[in-house]
Amino acid sequence: MSHVLIIGCGVIGAAIAYELSLSGLEVTVLDRQPPAQAATGAALGVLMGAISHKIKGNAWQMRAASIKRYETLIPELEAVIMRRIPFNRQGILMLCFQEEDLAGWEKLAAVRSAQEWQLEIWNAAQLQSRCPQLNSEKITAAIYSPQDRQVDPVALTLALVEAAKHKGVQFHFGVTATGYYLDNADQRMYLQIENAQLSEKIKDVDWLVIAAGTGSTPLQWRQESTSRDRTPIALTFAPTQQAQSTPAVEIKPVLGQAIHMRVNQPLGDPNFQPVITGDDVHIVPCLSSQPMTDYWVGATVEFSANGQVVADATQLEKVKQQAIAFCPALAQAKIIRTWSGLRPRPEGQPAPIIRHVPGFDNILLATGHYRNGVLLAPATAEKIREIVMRGE
Ligand SMILES: Cc1cc2nc3c(=O)[nH]c(=O)nc-3n(C[C@H](O)[C@H](O)[C@H](O)COP(=O)(O)OP(=O)(O)OC[C@H]3O[C@@H](n4cnc5c(N)ncnc54)[C@H](O)[C@@H]3O)c2cc1C
Repeated sequence: MSHVLIIGCGVIGAAIAYELSLSGLEVTVLDRQPPAQAATGAALGVLMGAISHKIKGNAWQMRAASIKRYETLIPELEAVIMRRIPFNRQGILMLCFQEEDLAGWEKLAAVRSAQEWQLEIWNAAQLQSRCPQLNSEKITAAIYSPQDRQVDPVALTLALVEAAKHKGVQFHFGVTATGYYLDNADQRMYLQIENAQLSEKIKDVDWLVIAAGTGSTPLQWRQESTSRDRTPIALTFAPTQQAQSTPAVEIKPVLGQAIHMRVNQPLGDPNFQPVITGDDVHIVPCLSSQPMTDYWVGATVEFSANGQVVADATQLEKVKQQAIAFCPALAQAKIIRTWSGLRPRPEGQPAPIIRHVPGFDNILLATGHYRNGVLLAPATAEKIREIVMRGE
């Protein structure tokens, strides 16, 4: 039985750990923080499958596979952890504004129908009757995607960890992997972990999976052998060809901010609370608030300047004002909290990155999910499982 070591316990690492545990593999997960922090701790959990514009290839297949897997995954996890995971099954409603090309949406709806997915195009009157809280002269129509979903990313990740533990997966939090180096003497790759005792315990690893989000770049960077000083050495891997001295992929952070808002009563019909999205701003009902009075609103998309990315208050205010423009009742909402996180975006390559580190057959990257890591976690886990099982 192979032993797989996963670095990173965001939604991606946790989903991989759970999926591999179902195949009876020995799995260990390390994270420098507790689970579900970093990008996962900031995410809104909107799962845009059918309503995305991707229609073919890997980008669509991963979305479709993930949305389908969520339907079985959530009840499967709930049965193990014996509590509910906030999972919104009321779909996603995308608002169309004056300048929007409805012909494009009609074409997409036809494609989805052929793919056996549903997309409905509502006119302004239909929208007003289903969602009276929306009020903007500029909204001309809406696209309703009843099969798309939203999940609480932290609750999901903690559930994956708990269910994986039931299957024997070992988790070690507060443990940092500091990088690797290729030793010129024996031509083996050494991974370094800042924990001597643990390093002893997790020897004999057959597969390494880097699921470290924005922390993935340093982990792929071959260091000079002088870094041998920074032992303990945990594991060794032999390269299959000349290992690279530059990372296989650079992951750059893109900051996102969001707001938790509270109103006095549910927005619109309490029995119809889909995620509403307009101009790339989401209003996400918090299913854990009963009656439904709490909503997350977000998120900004802020690129770094000179490698630094600092939350810009004006950008968050802009997102809030956009949400108020199409849902005026939010103007009276109380702000419960605001937060930010860094999305892992691959530089110069499409997201996500799921493949071998060049030169190593048994080191895999599962990273760079940028704006869709929660959506793509189940399909990512399945792809990693397939690669590992093929190598068994
Ligand atoms: C505001 C915001 C809103 C978002 N909304 C959505 C959404 O609606 N839908 C969606 O699908 N996605 C959304 N995303 C994107 C989503 O959050 C990410 O794509 C996803 O969380 C990436 O998961 P991950 O596990 O790869 O990374 P992370 O969650 O960042 O986890 C990486 C983990 O690796 C650990 N780590 C890093 N380096 C090391 C090391 N050297 N040693 C040990 N551990 C290490 C970190 O501590 C961390 O726990 C949003 C993101 C933001 C910021």
